[in-house]
Amino acid sequence: MPPEKHALLSASSASRWLACTAAPRFEEGLPESTSDYAEEGRLAHAIAELKVLKKFTIMTNRTYNSRLNKLKKEARYDPEMDKTTDLYLEHLLEQAMTYNSPPTVAAEVKVDFADYVPEGFGTCDCVMIGGDTLCITDYKHGKGVPVSAEGNPQMRLYALGALKRYAPIFGDAIKKVRMSIDQPRLDSYTTDTITVEELRAWGESIKPTAQKAFSGLGEFVPGDHCRFCRGKAQCRARAGVNTALEDFAGCVPAGSLSPEELQSMEAAKASGMEAPGLLTDEEIGDLLVRGKLLVQWYKDLEEYATTALLNGKPIPGWKLVAGRSDRAFTDQDAALKAIMEAGYDEAVIYERKPLTLAQLEKLMGKKPFEEAVGGYVIKPPGKPKLAEASDKREAYNPAAADFSGVSSDA
Ligand code: SF4
Repeated sequence: MPPEKHALLSASSASRWLACTAAPRFEEGLPESTSDYAEEGRLAHAIAELKVLKKFTIMTNRTYNSRLNKLKKEARYDPEMDKTTDLYLEHLLEQAMTYNSPPTVAAEVKVDFADYVPEGFGTCDCVMIGGDTLCITDYKHGKGVPVSAEGNPQMRLYALGALKRYAPIFGDAIKKVRMSIDQPRLDSYTTDTITVEELRAWGESIKPTAQKAFSGLGEFVPGDHCRFCRGKAQCRARAGVNTALEDFAGCVPAGSLSPEELQSMEAAKASGMEAPGLLTDEEIGDLLVRGKLLVQWYKDLEEYATTALLNGKPIPGWKLVAGRSDRAFTDQDAALKAIMEAGYDEAVIYERKPLTLAQLEKLMGKKPFEEAVGGYVIKPPGKPKLAEASDKREAYNPAAADFSGVSSDA
């Protein structure tokens, strides 16, 4: 599958341009980078598409096997892709079973949502239509962050495009849209269902924002969405936000307090009152939010400067140095043989340990693993981790963790 040509206002970047309307034109002038992850994703998508076509359309075994073998010969092929695309296919089959009669299924469907977003187009991984329901599914091969289908603008734009594309065949029969995102490597499967009426109303509601983003008269609005922006390191607006820590310039460490302030702090402590000069819990909550963006921004600056220096572009005040490295044998087998010849027993030299649970599951495949050893698998609550109140995960419950034998300091 050749790399997809992207629209200026692509569906996949919709959560960014809906929040920062200046981003599309700003990014336009910056070089596009392609990563190993993107290439892996492209290959996994090609395998997924082939499996969907084999399952839901007419394709001979010979054609299927020859195309699959060709894909498996690509340098970036990993057997895990076979398993994750099988899981995706399994999910699509489950979706198909929800229809009263076999739905129409198509893979890699080009859709046009330009009625809502100027020059908007994209590709849906799978479209399924039957009865009154349009179902679109997006396969994501990445295992960075789980992406939820709930209220997801990318999925909604694809759905608007799919409605338009299939309107000549299905007319007004479609009343409902089900949108799913499958991320098998993260074990994340999410779905959102809305009526066609709600979807179209949403499309109308974003029209002015899309126009603004397209026109080049948008506003820079930094936030979490900067993470995937091509200009994330060089964007002045993002840098501006991160200097907002200056708002907290008054929150100085105790050692820098004036003698009077120190005196009033001691007095407050003696009377059991909260000492002045300490950050309040509200301030700490706020600083954690600002700090999070600051840390991410700093990492992006580091990445930018490292790439620039590697490409011979100077970054004033900075240079590259060799990082820490570990010693290694040039020929491990020969070295171990020499150690044994020196009188050391093989049992002392080699450590025998089983593969991890995840490696064993990968080796056996999800289903056989579940059948053979599923009863031995437990998933204790993870260590408590700080998250923003808006995080979708349930709040950590220390009592439940203790009950399951895992304490917070385990
Ligand atoms: S880095 Fe953030 S603020 Fe700057 S253009 Fe990109 S999305 Fe907008």
